[in-house]
Amino acid sequence: MNDFSRFIDLHTHTSFSDGCLSPEELIEEAIWKGLTAIAITDHDTLEGLPRAQRAGAARGLEVIGGVELSCELEGCEVHLVGLFLTPSREMEETLQAFREQRIARMKEMVARFVALGIPIRMEDLPQDGDRAYGRPHLARLLVKQGITSSVNEAFARYLGDNGPVYVPKPRLAVDRGIALIHASRGLAILAHPGVGNLVDRIDALVERGIDGIEVYYPHYTEADARRIREAATRHFLVLSGGADYHGPGQGFDLGTLAIPYSFLDALKERKEKRWPSDS
Ligand code: AMP
Ligand code: ZN
Ligand code: FE
Ligand code: FE
Repeated sequence: MNDFSRFIDLHTHTSFSDGCLSPEELIEEAIWKGLTAIAITDHDTLEGLPRAQRAGAARGLEVIGGVELSCELEGCEVHLVGLFLTPSREMEETLQAFREQRIARMKEMVARFVALGIPIRMEDLPQDGDRAYGRPHLARLLVKQGITSSVNEAFARYLGDNGPVYVPKPRLAVDRGIALIHASRGLAILAHPGVGNLVDRIDALVERGIDGIEVYYPHYTEADARRIREAATRHFLVLSGGADYHGPGQGFDLGTLAIPYSFLDALKERKEKRWPSDS
């Protein structure tokens, strides 16, 4: 059944990673935007899911449990979104280790700011709870302290991949990321292949076992979008996507891609085929 009256978004972040909204606030925002279902795909953490799922159940919004993993293929950064996870212990332990490494990395980046004469402190970052820290936390702090006038400027001057403060984070080999998602009975979706020129690597990633691909994403060029759709058809990949929402005023807005609910039906069908619920 084609359904063009219900819409979804399958790539969102909460304050458990580098989003600005709490799980409950994100659920309210999704309802406000008229969505029927969202996936929570925080970087390196599943800790926000129980709260999001409780709030979703209370407010009548379907919430899919997911995660975003930063992986690597031959020196290139590849982001995977895992959807429909029943987390394995190995997944939980791996994510915990990545969150700890993110804290050590933040300390290193804070020290680099101090060395540049910009006196920020770890204590100035959001402190509540277990969180996957990322560069956006530092970027927002710079804006709050009047050091840069925008998050974009913070990335352009300091935090971008070639910036003076950038410290790379450890990345999972992409095969390991896919295996972790599969061990949690999830689907491994290639996130935003139009970012960082991964469109040329789709065939290699299919060989390594991805199930699906984000055909909906805010910043694709026409040409990339066409190539991504063609690759998806050629390899029978299941289709996904989302706004990569990080909060109001942070990049692209939630829900504006108008992804029909029928995409979620197809994803669920694929998930059931791959990991039947009675086995
Ligand atoms: P990290 O995981 O700490 O390396 O931070 C990566 C995150 O920073 C991405 O998921 C985006 O949310 C954000 N980001 C990366 N580049 C930029 C940019 N140029 N401007 C704003 N946000 C960015
Ligand atoms: Zn992010
Ligand atoms: Fe990403
Ligand atoms: Fe993301």
